[in-house]
Amino acid sequence: MSLHSKLSDKSTRFTESVIRGMTQLCLRYNAINLSQGTPAYQPPDEVKAAAIEAIQEGYNQYSITWGAPAFREAIAHKMTTFNRIPTDAAKNVTVTCGSTEGMLASLLAIINQGDEIIIFEPFYENYGPDTIISGAKPVYVALQETLTPDGTLHFTYDATELRDAFTSNTKAIILNTPNNPLGKVFTQDELQQIAALCCEYDCLAVTDEIYEHMIYDEKPHISIGSLPQMQERTITVSGLSKAYSMTGWRLGYVIAPAPLTDAIRKMHDFLTVGAPHPLQRAGTAALNLPPSYHHALVAKYDRNRKQLVTALTAAGFRCHPPEGAYYIMTDITDFGFPDDTAFAHWLVTEIGVGGVPGSSFYSHPHFGKTKFRFMFSLADDILIEAGERLMKIKVKI
Ligand code: PLP
Repeated sequence: MSLHSKLSDKSTRFTESVIRGMTQLCLRYNAINLSQGTPAYQPPDEVKAAAIEAIQEGYNQYSITWGAPAFREAIAHKMTTFNRIPTDAAKNVTVTCGSTEGMLASLLAIINQGDEIIIFEPFYENYGPDTIISGAKPVYVALQETLTPDGTLHFTYDATELRDAFTSNTKAIILNTPNNPLGKVFTQDELQQIAALCCEYDCLAVTDEIYEHMIYDEKPHISIGSLPQMQERTITVSGLSKAYSMTGWRLGYVIAPAPLTDAIRKMHDFLTVGAPHPLQRAGTAALNLPPSYHHALVAKYDRNRKQLVTALTAAGFRCHPPEGAYYIMTDITDFGFPDDTAFAHWLVTEIGVGGVPGSSFYSHPHFGKTKFRFMFSLADDILIEAGERLMKIKVKI
């Protein structure tokens, strides 16, 4: 019997994560891993202590499926004050196992087979499988590089291309700001334009804001759900993984109007039942940390960002400092490799550094074959060593 014939069509339409594959390759060749977006830092001590205390105090069984009340209250407060979306913990919050589950549960709650969903490209690789699993038909809109008069690089979309992407079959647009892999932070003007199209075509915005606290050069984070008429048509997905360096805790959440929340909670309940209860208790302590906590972390990331851009430029990559998140998308054309995958393999085996082939962020691998992504959530000594290793590229090519 061929077990392959027993597989669902959906399961064969996407491959395992390229990023996790690069991590395996780095481990095999003892390379410095600048591919997977795992923070190099630890959660704050008081938050770790709160998790231990919650286990000792007996919070070891299921919480309410859509989230422990105190954690939902803390999330609602943060959404109302930081994101400027008035949020009711009882009606609008679903706690999920990371924003990864939050995004999928949201799409499962709103998508009927064949509904169109607009995605800016390049995009975080999960959105591809998310559309396949939920049955959505993706419609891509390119984010293009433009050099502003002051010499900084900015990514934006063509307004006509965006308008043309909307049809009567559009159910939603997925936004990701700050964006992975480009670090693009959507501006107020762009968000207003997207919001106007959502209203005109009566569709939803599903926004992934997991990097909302990681924005450089004093740019503001704007949640599309805070714009006029958008709260009623926005699903905001976020989580604690990146802001508190706790990707292994699997704490995410979804904020949505009550009727959508009801459907998202059902999907979430039957997918996972709930996020880890003791960690939700500690998540409340994390959300109660003062703004100075985020300022200190972003200052650290800003130093790493500048250091890695300098090292990559010196090694021959074409790149610019990202506006947000902790990734640098580079152009590798000058190295003369046939494609980004060949370059990825060579970089790990010959130079001892891992990154992500750009093609994994595009609908067609061809679009990303001259692109390569590095991440910079790294300890100081590792960042220095990565820079030294990258300088060997010039000797070897
Ligand atoms: N969304 C984006 C854009 C990401 O880059 C990542 C992780 O790299 C995630 C979501 C996953 O977040 P979580 O740990 O909350 O599932």
